[in-house]
Amino acid sequence: MENIINQQEQVLMHTYNRYPVVLDHGEGVYLYDINGKKYLDFVSGIAVFALGYANGEYNNVLKEQLDKLIHTSNYFYSEPALAAAKKLVKATGMDRVFFTNSGTEAIEGAIKLARKYYYKKYGKADSEIIAMEHSFHGRSMGALSVTGTKKYRDAFEPLIGGAVFVPYNNINELKGRISDKTCAILIETVQGEGGIYPADPEYLKEVRQICDDKDIVLILDEIQCGMGRCGTMFAYEQYGITPDIVTTAKALGCGVPVGAFAAKESVANALEPGDHGTTYGGNPLATAAVSKVFDLFEQEQILSNVKVVGEYLQGKLLELKKDNNSIVTIRGKGMMLGLEFNIPVKDIIARALEKNLILISAGTKVIRFLPPLIIEKKHVDEMISIFKECIGMNGTNK
Ligand SMILES: *Cc1c(COP(=O)(O)O)cnc(C)c1O
Repeated sequence: MENIINQQEQVLMHTYNRYPVVLDHGEGVYLYDINGKKYLDFVSGIAVFALGYANGEYNNVLKEQLDKLIHTSNYFYSEPALAAAKKLVKATGMDRVFFTNSGTEAIEGAIKLARKYYYKKYGKADSEIIAMEHSFHGRSMGALSVTGTKKYRDAFEPLIGGAVFVPYNNINELKGRISDKTCAILIETVQGEGGIYPADPEYLKEVRQICDDKDIVLILDEIQCGMGRCGTMFAYEQYGITPDIVTTAKALGCGVPVGAFAAKESVANALEPGDHGTTYGGNPLATAAVSKVFDLFEQEQILSNVKVVGEYLQGKLLELKKDNNSIVTIRGKGMMLGLEFNIPVKDIIARALEKNLILISAGTKVIRFLPPLIIEKKHVDEMISIFKECIGMNGTNK
C-alpha cells in the first residue's frame, strides 16, 4: 500500500490529506483495501453510496447501459434521461430538471437560473444572492462565491460579485440584507460541511414567505442532505415547504458522477436555448443510474430504514454523550448526524481507521456520520463498539 500511496502523492495535486488506505472493492456497508482488510464504512464516499456497495441490480443496469449507449450529447433525446427526469420531478415537487455532472455544477446552474429570472423580470444584471455563513456549495468560482467559509474564498478573489452572507437561522439579519436587487436566497436545508446544522422550522417557513412576498427565488441545496439522507426523499419535505430551485447530487447517482438542479415552471422557463449547457450532463449512463436509484429506494424501502435505524443510531450516540464529557452535543436528521466534541476529532478519526472504521469530520470538532442508508441496527452496534474504544470508553484507548 505504501508504494501506491507514495507514487500517487507524486502525480496527483496535493489538495487532499488522504487516509493512508488504498481501497479495492466494496460489499454492502463494508469496504476492503488491497490487502483484504475490511472496513465498516460510516461515510459512504461522503453521502454518495446510499445503496451501499456492489448492489447487484444497480450494477446490472449500468452494465446493460454500458453495452447499449453511454453518451449522446444533449442534442438528442434518450429514454434513461426521460425516466430519470420524471422520477426526479416527482420526488422534488419541481417541474423541470437540468442534469449536471456534479453538485458544484448544479449550484452553478441554479445561480445562473436565478440571475436569468431576475434579468428577464427587470431587464438588468445587477442582482444579488444572499447565502449563509458556514455554508458549503462547491469549489468552482461561482459555487465558491456563495460558499460561506472565508478561508476557502480568500486566495481566489475576485470571485463573482453580488454574493451577500448572513448568519444561518437568523431571520432578522436576513431581512436586513434583502433589497430590490436580491434575486435569490440560497440555503442548505441541513448544513453539511459547516458542521451538520439543520435549518430551524420557523426560520425556513419565514424565508419561504419572504420569497413569496418579494418574488425572490428560494434555492435549497440538498446535495448532501437530500436523496433520503434525512429520512424523507428531500429534507425540505419535513418543513412543509418547497423551494423554487433545488440542487441535488451525491446520492442521486449512488456512485455515478451526476447532479441536477430542478425548478418550478415559472422559474425554469427563464432559461432559453443557448443560456446553459453541458456535454456530458444527463447522459444515458448517468441517468440510467439515477432512474434505477429511485426504483431501488422504493423497492428496498430506504426511507423507512433511514427513519428506524437513523433513530437507533441517534439514540446510541446520545447514550455515549451521557457518559463522555468531551461530547458537547449531537445534531442532525435521519442518517446525517454530527457529534460535536470539545476537542479536535482528528485523532479519533485516525484511531477509528486503525480499528477498521471509516469516519469523517465536519470542521475540526464535529464527527459526521453519513453511513450507507441500508445499514442495519447490527452495523450501528458494531460501529458504536469500535467508536467507544476510539474515545476511550471501552477501557482501551490506544
Ligand atoms: C458536496 C456538496 C456540494 C458540491 O458537490 P460536488 O459534487 O462535490 O461538486 C455542494 N453543496 C453541498 C451541500 C455539498 O455537500
